[in-house]
Amino acid sequence: MKIDKGLSRKEFKEKYPDNSSCLQYLGELKWADGYECKGCKSTTYSRGKQAYSRRCTKCQYDESATSGTLFHKIKFSISLAFEMLYEIVTSKKGANSVWLAERFQLQQKTTWLFRQKVQEAMKSSLEHPLEDEVHVDEFEIGTPKKGQQGRSASEEKVRVVIAIEHRNGAAGRGYAQVITDYSCSSLKPIFDQHIARDAKVETDGWSGYKPLKTEYPNLKQKLSEKGENFKMLHIQIRNFKNWIRGVHSYCNKEYMNKYIQEYFYRFNRRNFRKNILENILKRMVEGSPITYSHIIKQAI
Ligand SMILES: [Zn+2]
Repeated sequence: MKIDKGLSRKEFKEKYPDNSSCLQYLGELKWADGYECKGCKSTTYSRGKQAYSRRCTKCQYDESATSGTLFHKIKFSISLAFEMLYEIVTSKKGANSVWLAERFQLQQKTTWLFRQKVQEAMKSSLEHPLEDEVHVDEFEIGTPKKGQQGRSASEEKVRVVIAIEHRNGAAGRGYAQVITDYSCSSLKPIFDQHIARDAKVETDGWSGYKPLKTEYPNLKQKLSEKGENFKMLHIQIRNFKNWIRGVHSYCNKEYMNKYIQEYFYRFNRRNFRKNILENILKRMVEGSPITYSHIIKQAI
């Protein structure tokens, strides 16, 4: 099998050497299906004020390549944004906001906000449910209490449900979600959103899964044999916990779902690393702008 090594730093630099090349790429992505003025819907334009912006010839509305996207009003250059994206999607450790701030000489609040926007772009499209054999389990992970940093005795436990395709002993694609408790109504959303109805789902013997058998006729419950029958799943749970603790040790409970999304965005693309930067750029362009206050409100 050919190993996909991903886009090397050298290739990245050659492809996006400066602001101009980044803006050109974003403009081409943004108007790939043609141009239409946001104001008057006219489809004719001339060159706008900024590089690669477009000015409507009818109403003179000037639209930049970044406006209306998740790059809207970023406080640093677009080439820096591309570099941070490259680090976030390709580095093994996932480049947390503290590391990004040091590396690019920015304030941590700035890199944190940018990371939040990137996480927004990493949300699942919900269009590719898990298929065939799917193993589901729950686990707990400790997070610091609101306002506190790092791990301490006062950490809170967050409950998570995880579902991963089981392919000949190895892992396929996967998803996870924060849950409030282990009731059927809390466990059901990950099934509804991420698991195909005809999938051969395997869970432990917990009663919360039982009512789901009407909608998932191939769901089988197995008593846990000291973890032997869910070996692959337990390895994946351990990997996820290590990532969260190692990379995002300051991740508060309110943001856990976003870090889960980030983890599985990368996990589900681990065999397509060559295209991951282009994929996230496309999602950033297709996404709508979000602000700091919106993110804070979302987390409460
Ligand atoms: Zn117009």
